[in-house]
Amino acid sequence: MAFDPFSLAQPGICDLQAYQPGKPVDELERELGITNIIKLASNENPLGPGPKAVSAMQAALPESSRYPDGNGFRLKQVLARRYNVDQNRITLGNGSNDVLELLARVFAGPGLDVVFSRHAFAVYPIAAMAVGANPVVVPARHWGYDLDALLASITDTTRLVFIANPNNPTGTWLNETELSAFLDAVPDHVVVVLDEAYAEYVDEPGYPDSIAWLADYPNLVVTRTFSKAYGLAALRVGYALSSVEVADLLNRVRQPFNVNALALAAAEAALADNAYLEQSVAINKAGMQQLVEGFRKLGLDYIESVGNFVCVDVAREAAPVFKALLQQGVIVRPVANYEMPNHLRVTVGTQEENQRFLAALETVLS
Ligand code: PMP
Repeated sequence: MAFDPFSLAQPGICDLQAYQPGKPVDELERELGITNIIKLASNENPLGPGPKAVSAMQAALPESSRYPDGNGFRLKQVLARRYNVDQNRITLGNGSNDVLELLARVFAGPGLDVVFSRHAFAVYPIAAMAVGANPVVVPARHWGYDLDALLASITDTTRLVFIANPNNPTGTWLNETELSAFLDAVPDHVVVVLDEAYAEYVDEPGYPDSIAWLADYPNLVVTRTFSKAYGLAALRVGYALSSVEVADLLNRVRQPFNVNALALAAAEAALADNAYLEQSVAINKAGMQQLVEGFRKLGLDYIESVGNFVCVDVAREAAPVFKALLQQGVIVRPVANYEMPNHLRVTVGTQEENQRFLAALETVLS
């Protein structure tokens, strides 16, 4: 009999859809034979990495023949000081994606449920199904989370709830009143993961100080990343803040050297570079304004977003619009896989990039 890996794969894996990353610029340049392409497809920081992070990486390069510090001691020390938490509450990851998967490995598995919202980040079903758990998708409300519906979907077999705040791709957010009421109501056998990958961009009264909640909710895990506002997406470094016990469990299953030395050095330096962070946030704020004004001028609806990206409703099937934009050298993100077939998600770029995108969108839609 022929070897059939699909019949041998673990339950759940065969039903998985692989994560679709944004199209890389050089791939499109090769395909179309054009240059000067702009990529606004992966919620990356348009500023490039900060100067302090780059210097720290350069300084760390000569040590590249050595394994990194497997405990990330120095980065944890800086994070602990920054957030006023015990170092033993911190788990570093190869991107925050890594810690999301570690959480699924520790708490989910066959016969157990992992709950998340419709239109929520695509990694949640992947993390759940990869460990054989059952993904439970809860209806959304106005593109955002319906916490009552999330709560109602929790059963005895639920182990994890993933909540992105703000959510990707919709950019919607939950305030402290809503979220603390939810946490109060969640039973003790459920771990709540607040995925705050875009938290640094949020400037809204009422956005929760969820890290302060860790003392009150031992079942709460907050995840953050250096990929967005800190501009280090290529390096893959993120972290979870949790109870000491949850961090201990995550530490048991993570790869011994899951965060590389350049990433550790750059992240530590990035945390000390407030000027870069402030500039990232300011550019994003201005760029978001520029984009939504552009949408209004084009008569297009959009979903109000507090992240570094925004979903625009192109009032028709978005896939052909996405392709036509590629021809104009602009890469954005179609979100039909998030059950949003008429929307495109665009990352806030530099002023020039936003302008080019808006001009290309106008051309393509006319
Ligand atoms: N959570 C959300 C909501 C995201 O949008 C992303 C990145 N797209 C991540 C987590 C993972 O980011 P990273 O692994 O780069 O930290």
